[in-house]
Amino acid sequence: MQTTTFLDIPPEFGLQMIKAQAMERSLPFDEPPDGVTLHLPLGQIHACGENGGLRLTLNASDDVKLHLLQEVVDHRLDEAAVALDRRWSLTNPGLVPPNLTFATVASCEHVYPSYYRVRLSGASLERFSRDGLHFRLLFPPESHIGQWPFVLGSGRVEWPGGISQWHRPVYTTRSVDPENGTLDFDVFAHEGGRVTDWCKTLQPGMDVAIMGPGGEWLPDAAWIALFGDETALPAIARILESLPTETSGVATILVSDAHDKQHLKTPSGMAVRWLVRGDGISLLNELKQLEIPDDNRFVWIASERSEVNQARDMLADRGLQKSEMRAASYWSRQQS
Ligand SMILES: Cc1cc2nc3c(=O)[nH]c(=O)nc-3n(C[C@H](O)[C@H](O)[C@H](O)COP(=O)(O)OP(=O)(O)OC[C@H]3O[C@@H](n4cnc5c(N)ncnc54)[C@H](O)[C@@H]3O)c2cc1C
Repeated sequence: MQTTTFLDIPPEFGLQMIKAQAMERSLPFDEPPDGVTLHLPLGQIHACGENGGLRLTLNASDDVKLHLLQEVVDHRLDEAAVALDRRWSLTNPGLVPPNLTFATVASCEHVYPSYYRVRLSGASLERFSRDGLHFRLLFPPESHIGQWPFVLGSGRVEWPGGISQWHRPVYTTRSVDPENGTLDFDVFAHEGGRVTDWCKTLQPGMDVAIMGPGGEWLPDAAWIALFGDETALPAIARILESLPTETSGVATILVSDAHDKQHLKTPSGMAVRWLVRGDGISLLNELKQLEIPDDNRFVWIASERSEVNQARDMLADRGLQKSEMRAASYWSRQQS
């Protein structure tokens, strides 16, 4: 699928800007005679001069990827304040964006002491089994209950009430059953959590809107170390069961309750270590003691923001390159 837009900017400036972005982010690109082509996991972005301006053409294998690719480009152009009045050729004005899916609650069970498992049922859930581990739950602002984001004539998405007014927490697809059209995700129940409270109200048949898939995919190395707290357990479980069987390494998971430990499917060379919250127990202590091989390695950590920031510094101090690590903030402790 393809969409295109014309930017009224000097083509040399536009092409230089795109190449600079590609180099800064280590994105693969080539330079055909007429311009520049970037190759992203979502698809390709081709830029070339046309009538004194710049033509951008995006190609992707399906409408969801094309939409996400367009959002990436829009985001970068908005940041650079370039051609803010642009219009994309392929739009479905008035419709919800293609990555928004409506589903219904099939069940919500308290499967482990600290987790609810929510099962959604719907016709378009199969795509959540690939391309990204995560999705967003969508909760409209009080003043716009029952309204949903929709595509404008320009191709951009309008969020009723303004996007900042929406609550859009990120969750991890735990599993998808394409035959039965269901998707499971696990909610860590915590004090003050709006999603925790929402889980307590769920009844079969209730409507849910989710947006995705998005975010990261599997780490890629022969040796992998995964570290995560309660919120990262679903992602670690999903990564472990999807890794190539020859992968080796260790997964260290911090849970609130010893009964939250689950049986996880892992490659035989991956050890799983469970930590239960308590005095002196922390992911950072474990990370400090981690023995890391010299190459073909990847360290992944997802947890509370300040912990993740410290982990990133620790890993950099130990000589890991950006391409050898991922440190993701999954939640932020409220400052009191
Ligand atoms: C990529 C990604 C994947 C994620 N996957 C999952 C998942 O599969 N399952 C899951 O349970 N969570 C997951 N999370 C974390 C989840 O999005 C956050 O915990 C989110 O804040 C929950 O939204 P809420 O509406 O319940 O709480 P909010 O309304 O956002 O926050 C309310 C209060 O709860 C506090 N809070 C938020 N999270 C926690 C916590 N873990 N412990 C203690 N206090 C907390 C906040 O500081 C705030 O004070 C993921 C996050 C990311 C970025």
